Amino acid sequence: MTEEFLRPEVKELKDYVPGKNPVEPGVIKLASNENPFGPSPKALEALAKEAKNLQVYPDQKSILLREALAKKLDVPFDNIICGNGSDDIMQILASTYLNPGEEVITPKNTFSVYEMVTKIFGGRLVLVDLKNFEVDLDGIAGAVTAKTKIIFIANPNNPTGTAFSASAFASFLEKISTNVLVVVDEAYIEFAEGKDGPDTLKHVKEGKNVVVLRTFSKFYGLAGLRVGYGVARKDLIAPMFRTKMPFNVNRLAQAGAAAALEDKEFLEKTYKNNLDGKKYLYAEFDKLGLEYKKTESNFIFINLKKSADELFVEMLRQKVILRPLTSFGLPEAIRVSVGTPEQNKTLIAALAKLLK
Ligand SMILES: *Cc1c(COP(=O)(O)O)cnc(C)c1O
Repeated sequence: MTEEFLRPEVKELKDYVPGKNPVEPGVIKLASNENPFGPSPKALEALAKEAKNLQVYPDQKSILLREALAKKLDVPFDNIICGNGSDDIMQILASTYLNPGEEVITPKNTFSVYEMVTKIFGGRLVLVDLKNFEVDLDGIAGAVTAKTKIIFIANPNNPTGTAFSASAFASFLEKISTNVLVVVDEAYIEFAEGKDGPDTLKHVKEGKNVVVLRTFSKFYGLAGLRVGYGVARKDLIAPMFRTKMPFNVNRLAQAGAAAALEDKEFLEKTYKNNLDGKKYLYAEFDKLGLEYKKTESNFIFINLKKSADELFVEMLRQKVILRPLTSFGLPEAIRVSVGTPEQNKTLIAALAKLLK
């Protein structure tokens, strides 16, 4: 296929770089912030039941799942849209609201799907540097122009794991024009330990131009099932039902996600393991003299100050898969997911061997 056959927007796109999946047994993956305990057992039960109905198309509007979410989040059902992963919602948002030539602002080192959907729809990407490896809300507010349409921010941020406070976000929102959609991607919010984080759903209820994105991929252990959702004002959500693919969330995904929401035991175990795991890793990283950021998520950012790609290859020989952050524009940093206690020990033993 010749290059001139492509839309110019597509010529600019890079391939998405995923975390490596293990191929041999005995290799542990700490590269994609997946749940180390596997999927929610309640979700698995629901999947087995739902499998008997797979000859029937799924509910186009994910009504049962949205009702379950509405109850859990205490927001009206009409304020929620479900997607085939939250990255689907990002694409639906851009396809609904982004005109060619309009600007999309995002931190420079962050989740690459924001850039991808911006470019697919011909938007102009405006990147704002991190400050001390944290999202610079003032810098983002300062980058807004008359052409700005969307701001994408992950909180906690991927790959740095840091989060901003409620007061920082409230004063940021005050500075942003009502012609701009502020998308806060809370893929990791269930892991947050800090108590002073922004109540983004409250801002939605107040009628702000805030879109909250969440996912079943991390905390709920369902990355392979592909379910995410967006929460925003009703008038912002309703048109998105016209641009999404009709059956974007499959039957298994709708049933499994709704069941996972109720899996109290699994969710508590996941939260506690992460809390204990990150404390253990902080202490061990300190002993190894590694520079890292305290995390509000289920992964830790390490500022290696040397080639992350090289460490990645060496760690792979030790049967541990990490995420070098080269594709995030940070070639001398790595990201490591918090695993089970056993996986964390294996990680530390391998790192100690290579770093000493
Ligand atoms: C993992 C992740 C997601 C989840 O994407 P899904 O499509 O729901 O699997 C979204 N945003 C960020 C920042 C992530 O790291």
